[in-house]
Amino acid sequence: MDIIIGKTAGFCYGVKRAVEGAMNEAMEHTEQIYCLGELVHNRQVINKLENLGIKFIEKINDSNGITIIRAHGIPKEIYNIAREKNITIRDYTCPNVLKIHEIAKNFSNDGYFVFLLGEKNHPENIATLSYCKNYFVLEDENDIEQAIKTFETMKINKLLLIAQTTYSLEKFNRIKSVLDNKIGKDINFVVKNTICKATELRQKETEELSKNVDTMIIIGGKNSSNTKKLYDIAKNNCNNSILIETAYDLKNDVDNIKTKNKVGIMAGASTPQDSIDDVVQLLKN
Ligand code: SF4
Repeated sequence: MDIIIGKTAGFCYGVKRAVEGAMNEAMEHTEQIYCLGELVHNRQVINKLENLGIKFIEKINDSNGITIIRAHGIPKEIYNIAREKNITIRDYTCPNVLKIHEIAKNFSNDGYFVFLLGEKNHPENIATLSYCKNYFVLEDENDIEQAIKTFETMKINKLLLIAQTTYSLEKFNRIKSVLDNKIGKDINFVVKNTICKATELRQKETEELSKNVDTMIIIGGKNSSNTKKLYDIAKNNCNNSILIETAYDLKNDVDNIKTKNKVGIMAGASTPQDSIDDVVQLLKN
């Protein structure tokens, strides 16, 4: 059996930076370290950090000391609360996410209405929207009509299109083309592709790989949006695509996989190398 592991599988730059940063904070300080929200959408990584003594909290008001900010970022109001409460922030917001905040802020200040492509309740988008004055979140093509209606009632003649860093590039391009045709020529329509390069490369590689194998295994947290997207891409090209969180989840598929010749492996941006190694080991055994 050939096992092909995607070159872009596993931690992206932003997640690696946040996880290593959090580990260093935990090891360097004797006092309690807090982390606002799940640092990454991966149970195994969270367990490791909890074992190092990091306490995960849902609200900034629950913090009593040094507080880690995850790669997804936080709404701007949270920085203000932290300042008022004298909470020390260790900000590991990914620079790519900070770039979106900057774009959203600058264009909003300049009077633009913002169309944000992404999941309505994703923490990254909640943070981005805190920098927007007038906006609409589009999860997919089904939201286009309502988005345009909302935009039109505002009587604004400037529109910005941006996307969650992990949004599907294919969907972004599709929605952009529809909007290009529907938005009137009198509107100043600006498009900024804010999908991060790491996501783009990972999705492209997943597409290529899944076309050339007879089983595709996607490893990642069940609540990781970028992992789910990789699985959707794989399913479109390879009927035998499997989404798992750890090697243990493969137990029911082993007999089926044994009959295959070529297995591809991809992993989401928050999947640690250990989880990938465990799957490879299981397949080799
Ligand atoms: S997926 Fe991209 S934007 Fe998100 S944390 Fe990783 S590098 Fe940053």
